Amino acid sequence: MRSRYSAYCHKAIDYIYQTYHPSMRQENPAAALAAFAHDSHFIKLDVHNAEQSVKEGFVEFTVKYMQHNLLYQFRERSRFVLEDRWYYLNGILMEQTPRKIQRNDQCPCNSGKKFKQCQQHLVSGSQI
Ligand SMILES: [Zn+2]
Repeated sequence: MRSRYSAYCHKAIDYIYQTYHPSMRQENPAAALAAFAHDSHFIKLDVHNAEQSVKEGFVEFTVKYMQHNLLYQFRERSRFVLEDRWYYLNGILMEQTPRKIQRNDQCPCNSGKKFKQCQQHLVSGSQI
């Protein structure tokens, strides 16, 4: 799960795509994943809970990211299945709250600058 988060941060689209369960790839084409990763600046991952049985795993997490002038807090319970390797199958979205970032707000990317002056989150290579 963390490796997929890192892959999003580093825009490693192949890895994200390959770790989707094959049955889910058609509705999550690599181009759409690339567009999402490109538009997003990832700020933080919090894992709340992880359970694993022999063939199935669940991870509940919150991820915080920016997209243009919106700050998202996205909480999901993800389901993974073990076949030849672990695959991300799907997730239940528990919360997704976009909040508009005001021009005079401290930038959520932790640069210490005001949002209107900040360029840091526009540069590639997000924090992990
Ligand atoms: Zn910023």
